[in-house]
Amino acid sequence: MRTRFAPSPTGYMHIGNLRTALYEYLIAKSNGGKFILRIEDTDQERYVEGAMDAIFNTLEMTGIKYDEGPYVGGDYGPYIQSERLHLYKKYAQELVDKGEAYYCFCTKERLDSLKKSAAELGDALNYDRHCFYLDKEEVEKNLRNNVPHVIRQKMPTEGTTTFHDVVYGDITIENKTLEDQVLLKSDGYPTYNFANVVDDHLMKITHVVRGNEYLSSTPKYNLLYSAFGWEIPTYIHLPPVMKDQHTKLSKRHGDASFQDLVERGYLPKAILNYIALLGWSPKDTEEIFTLEELEKSFNLDGLSKSPAIFDIEKLTWMNGEHIRRMDLDEFYDVARPYIEKGTNSSLTEEQMKKIAGLIQKRTEVLTEIPGKISFFAELPDYDIQIYVHKKMKTDLENSLTYLKEGFDYLKEAQDFTSNSLYEGIKELAAKLGCKNSQILWPMRTALSGVEVSPGGATEIAEILGKEESLKRMEYGISKLGG
Ligand code: GLU
Repeated sequence: MRTRFAPSPTGYMHIGNLRTALYEYLIAKSNGGKFILRIEDTDQERYVEGAMDAIFNTLEMTGIKYDEGPYVGGDYGPYIQSERLHLYKKYAQELVDKGEAYYCFCTKERLDSLKKSAAELGDALNYDRHCFYLDKEEVEKNLRNNVPHVIRQKMPTEGTTTFHDVVYGDITIENKTLEDQVLLKSDGYPTYNFANVVDDHLMKITHVVRGNEYLSSTPKYNLLYSAFGWEIPTYIHLPPVMKDQHTKLSKRHGDASFQDLVERGYLPKAILNYIALLGWSPKDTEEIFTLEELEKSFNLDGLSKSPAIFDIEKLTWMNGEHIRRMDLDEFYDVARPYIEKGTNSSLTEEQMKKIAGLIQKRTEVLTEIPGKISFFAELPDYDIQIYVHKKMKTDLENSLTYLKEGFDYLKEAQDFTSNSLYEGIKELAAKLGCKNSQILWPMRTALSGVEVSPGGATEIAEILGKEESLKRMEYGISKLGG
């Protein structure tokens, strides 16, 4: 089994594209096959600088490794279409020789006027086959005189063409609706419609996976395969990824690309997991998958033809799940830049790692981190009303009393680890006859200066260290009038 991802370097890697790459990869890998990357850069006008790097980077970040492709090589290269022009020329010529294609010398003006009249008549076909009827001598004379030309495929005018798609089933079209499409353009570049067939054949692709916008062109590809006498691959066309019931997800409309999502704090592996489920359902109810797990579970039966809607909330939840499943070192690696950002790189490595431990279970997207932990670097200005908490049974008065008690205890504490401090405070509460929370809440508030903090009083105290903790508590005491 051989599949290929064949992106055109025309901009960002959008979500639908990445899903296609993922499914191609999974189809190959779940069957012990090979996954190939081919760059389709024959449309020079749509080429965007840097887009090729976006493709390579995205695949690398997501762990979708290709077995053959640019830079890694393989037996069927080159894998960049602009380096294969000689091949398209040769095969287009072969079709001309076979009588399956013909030279067309029509000028742009002529084609434009045909298009206009076809539109006026509501005709589906634009081209009138004028050049198909040229005699041999005239064609040769034109070629000798370098008259600009294209090569067009000669379509059958009668009958139907039927093909099978794994997702959509059998599809039949009337041949008379097919235009004599251009295979080779006047600049010597192939059209996508021609190049994809030549390359899929030469690269021995067995399963062609792509967006369903190519469904209607597939009969044309099959006619090309037949004209050459080549075997037709298995087709798997995918429904679009939607923004809502009616609109497709599209970068052009400002919808997030893979790179945008990463910048918004989503993990590549969570994005991959989420998009795997946009159009494919696993056999059981498990939803969290790593790429390796997907390689084992993926199967074609789970593909659906109904369009899937991209739901950022579901992705957010899934991102949190992936974060929770990481071990601390892995989480620290991804969280560290955000911790540094939130604390202006003012903390030690040990402190940052402890913060990572504190926030891991409470983080859904990485970009939430800086805002949640900035109090570690600097105590924010706060309103004393945040000491008052109904459930913790604290008011301004008892907060002051117990904060002082907590301060005295911390000052004497030998072991400044969270667990030991916590045990000590519990004993203190028992001695004073108050609730644990009546000491812990005011301490937490004084130490953090925020209403909601990741971690409780003793965890925060451990990270801040004795000196800073005492300083903040002293300030709290003075704020409360003590
Ligand atoms: N270059 C085409 C695209 O980016 C690929 C379509 C295909 O996979 O055949 O849409």
